[in-house]
Amino acid sequence: MSTAMPDAGSASIARVAATGDASLGTFFYCSQRYRVVFGAGTSTRLGEESERLGIKRALVLTTNAQQDLGRRLGAGLGDRLAGLYAGARMHTPVEVTNEALGIVESRDVDGLVAIGGGSTVGLGKALSLRTGLPHIAVPTTYAGSEMTPILGETANGIKTTQQSQDLVPDTVIYDVDLTVSLPPHISAASGLNAIAHAVEALYAPDANPLTSLMAEDGIAALARALPRIVVAPADPSARRDALYGAWLCGVCLGAVGMSLHHKLCHVLGGMFDLPHAETHAIVLPHAAAYNAAAAPDAMTRIARALRATDAPQGLFDLARRLALPRRLADIGMPEGGIARAAEMVVRSPYANPRPVERVAIQDLIAAAWRGDAPARN
Ligand code: NAD
Repeated sequence: MSTAMPDAGSASIARVAATGDASLGTFFYCSQRYRVVFGAGTSTRLGEESERLGIKRALVLTTNAQQDLGRRLGAGLGDRLAGLYAGARMHTPVEVTNEALGIVESRDVDGLVAIGGGSTVGLGKALSLRTGLPHIAVPTTYAGSEMTPILGETANGIKTTQQSQDLVPDTVIYDVDLTVSLPPHISAASGLNAIAHAVEALYAPDANPLTSLMAEDGIAALARALPRIVVAPADPSARRDALYGAWLCGVCLGAVGMSLHHKLCHVLGGMFDLPHAETHAIVLPHAAAYNAAAAPDAMTRIARALRATDAPQGLFDLARRLALPRRLADIGMPEGGIARAAEMVVRSPYANPRPVERVAIQDLIAAAWRGDAPARN
């Protein structure tokens, strides 16, 4: 991993493209060592991509539900296919990883091919971390895990998270065709979850001109695509835009720190077992409104990407247009939990542009619980 200061030439390009202002200061940007293959039908290149990494005996990983897809794409590996493990599950349970590890050892596997959403990519990361084997990810959702150096694993009901550049897959094949089967309402929620990464990347303490470019373009691509996907789930250009946007938003999640919105969603999801992506969709406009006055440049860019006049309201309107739930009350949060959740958020906040204050956070959660329009207070 290298950290470099920009030279004068690249700094001036970044200033014009990224911020349009004259205040480019000191920043750090770390590039990662992965290769991306993007486009419709690109999963047919799995054999070539395995060869590039020197893989001769690949283990294909999927969930139970996607094993037929795993078999179909695995066939394209020809005699490089060592087997299929279709046991990937949400939150990367360690017992699942250990079972797959047994297959890696018994079949002399020398490379991993994870085909699926964040759950399957998580298993690929867990295995590559333990074995050092090359890892090709073929994402089929908009979760973005394939772009992050983060792994969350569960053992005995407790989730722990670790971070290492070694977790980032060596090659990521974004095949737009594989996302067409993702149901429209899951696409919408997952897409808004991806937008949340980009929104917070724009006001992250370690934001830099390059991630900000990706964040703005990622929001714009998803905001263009998701309403079209809800109406016409097989629209190839909408699916292409959405996957491209999800890629950029995933880079943002992996590259800079997340703030209040992600803290709120972790607390609410963990305390009340709420659905992950829907919780993000409901909370995001309120978190953006909370931070709006403290992060005006970020708000300008978010609004521009959404083609809206106001960023928080634009996010709220997008979620409404996608028919996503608007009230935490509707996805299982009890009203009696509002004060407790606020307390948890304030106790160990993430870095945030505006101080995280108990009364204001409680008001924010209450507004999201009722489904109010976002209010700057
Ligand atoms: P998922 O991988 O659990 O997939 C959800 C379901 O959708 C599965 O049954 C899967 O088989 C199915 N599916 C996936 N793609 C499909 C498609 N194209 N068509 C039809 N069905 C499809 O869901 P997810 O939201 O992608 O990932 C969630 C997991 O990823 C969580 O465990 C989360 O913590 C993790 N995650 C990790 C990171 C990270 O940076 N480490 C980032 C995002 C998410």
